[in-house]
Amino acid sequence: MATVSLRDEAAGLLRDLIRLDTVNPPGNETLAAEHLRAYLEANGVACEVYARVPERANLVARIPGHGDGPRLLLLSHTDTVLADPGEWQLDPWSGELRDGQVWGRGALDMKGQVAASAVAMASLARDGFEAPGDLIFAACADEEVGAGFGLQWLVEEHPEAVRAEYCINEGGGDRLVLDGRAFYVCSTAEKMSAPFRIIVHGRSGHASRPGMADNALVKAAPMVERLGAFRDEPEVGPEVAAFLQAVCGEVPAALEAVSAARAVHPLAGDIVEPLLGTTLAPTEIEASKKRNVIPNRCEITVDCRILPGHTQEEVEAKVARVLEGAEYDLEWIEAQGGTRSPVDSPLWDVVESFVAEVEPEAQVVPLLLSGFTDSHWIREAFGTIAYGFFPMRTMEPEVAARLIHSADERIELDDLELGMRFLRHAASALPSLP
Ligand SMILES: [Zn+2]
Repeated sequence: MATVSLRDEAAGLLRDLIRLDTVNPPGNETLAAEHLRAYLEANGVACEVYARVPERANLVARIPGHGDGPRLLLLSHTDTVLADPGEWQLDPWSGELRDGQVWGRGALDMKGQVAASAVAMASLARDGFEAPGDLIFAACADEEVGAGFGLQWLVEEHPEAVRAEYCINEGGGDRLVLDGRAFYVCSTAEKMSAPFRIIVHGRSGHASRPGMADNALVKAAPMVERLGAFRDEPEVGPEVAAFLQAVCGEVPAALEAVSAARAVHPLAGDIVEPLLGTTLAPTEIEASKKRNVIPNRCEITVDCRILPGHTQEEVEAKVARVLEGAEYDLEWIEAQGGTRSPVDSPLWDVVESFVAEVEPEAQVVPLLLSGFTDSHWIREAFGTIAYGFFPMRTMEPEVAARLIHSADERIELDDLELGMRFLRHAASALPSLP
């Protein structure tokens, strides 16, 4: 009988998943949910499909615990961003295996981790795995757009399906080499994404007689510059402090944090820089729709990322100081994320014990994400300790960062296997979590 290694099993499943087009919008994640269900059920894992609408299904699978020990959720999403085949060397939905890499949209973000999580579940079930608490696999829809079909909907409508004390999700696992030392980053917190609009009012008029109008676009121009030049008063939160302690050997004062990190390695400075305060980035502007009409209204959209522990009200006050003297209305568009899990937890010990096994000289460091993932839904709903960790050491993090949401996305089979080994390790270490 031919035996298939777990590595080949994960690669095969990943290639299948990439061939299912789950670009969101529209998503069609049911394609992936059904494929995963067939695979997991064939391996004796009980599955349940939850869908707000038939074509946007979430799959939850479970190896029930024999007691009331802590539950561990392996969380992932099956939707992807779009891909323009014209920019790619290979068909983005080919799932081609070339030179030890699986190519295709979603290979890194995040069908690779979906496949690794599913193979970890299936292989543990075949091994007769048992733990005091449930081991749960959730492959969710709609992470990339967040229109209420995925984990957000699940925690509201079917909380018992995904309730867990611990969760492993995307958003970390990069291996950084800084000043000759190796670090694996584990994301434990995320900034809040809270974009807003600044609305500037004027008076319209014919563009051939500008003196008679009050041009809202012209009034907005210096405001765009002032918003773009904003630098928050820096502060060092717990995750950045732990990162700096590990990388610099001390926690420098907030004003020196970037230069101290940069002195160790430029990359460390780049990592720390956006994590010391709220950032504002004006990204869109809208005024007149007609060349010869002077606009009476101009809207500036500002991408705003707020540190955990800070509020939108505080940011409004800062914006008021930045735009002092100008007249405008501020409208919040939405607010998501801005949650943290403690760095000191049994799940942290599990991550450290894995890294100690595969690379004893390397150190695990926490990271605050400047972006956000689905982790905040589960932290907010259940107080779950959720980390982003899928270790990757063969592909350089700079290369991976360039491929995510971009052309020629692909994952190293060695990294897929490493990630799967970590997920199996985490599940097996579950019984020792208090
Ligand atoms: Zn993702």
